Amino acid sequence: MENELLYEELLYFEKLVTDLEIELFAKPYGQDFFPILEWNLRNIFKLRRSMKDKEENEFYFNWLNDLYKRFISIRDIAYANCNIPLGYYLNEQASITHLVYTNNKCSNIKLYSDSGFIFLCQFHQEKTPSLGVRENFGHGYCFGCGSSFHAVQYLMEFENLTYQEAIQLLSKIYLIDIYGNPVQENDPLVLKYRKSLLSGDFKSLLERGYSRTIKRKDTYEVQNSIQKFEHDFATIERIKRHGHIPFDNRRKKYFLRMPEFN
Ligand SMILES: [Zn+2]
Repeated sequence: MENELLYEELLYFEKLVTDLEIELFAKPYGQDFFPILEWNLRNIFKLRRSMKDKEENEFYFNWLNDLYKRFISIRDIAYANCNIPLGYYLNEQASITHLVYTNNKCSNIKLYSDSGFIFLCQFHQEKTPSLGVRENFGHGYCFGCGSSFHAVQYLMEFENLTYQEAIQLLSKIYLIDIYGNPVQENDPLVLKYRKSLLSGDFKSLLERGYSRTIKRKDTYEVQNSIQKFEHDFATIERIKRHGHIPFDNRRKKYFLRMPEFN
């Protein structure tokens, strides 16, 4: 219910900016609520920074500021009160770079943009790598065949799993407890992804991306990337220690059970 109200609010803002012919409200990941929210926040932030003459455009600038504050509060309310789907939460916790890296067949992985890497595509045949994986967006996109995925979708496509199986596997790989998970620790897929996560090669790949990112300009995107890289290093450490993910209490009640599947 709460989600629906917030979604209504987003649609209202979408209409506002469409009237003003601002290209803001692209929806890169379908109709999921939280990715749309994050996408819009980033874009409003970018737009606000890029405005040159703030005095001449005072009205517009103030409007953007209000919009930005409003979105931040929508996000806070949404995170605090809504039942965030487990699949979304796992996408956030997973490292898309790690998942793709596990099945990588190319010896030369290039850096891409401010926060990611380019791999050989795993969904079509190619000789030159064109699968861009951006860690801060938790998202992969192939410029050759158009494949587009986040962590859950990647496992569904690559390992040929259902949605339910993919999130069960993901929670087991990253030691995130969900009640009644039938996937075992010694499942070959769990072992495969754990092995690559703990490999020295993967860690040095992350370090390569991280050391480049922290040299870049201090923008919202770069801050996000840095946080995501640090989160991945922490995940590696946690899995080495074999401790389970510490849920913050506010979120705990929403995540420690399986969602209902239809
Ligand atoms: Zn491809």
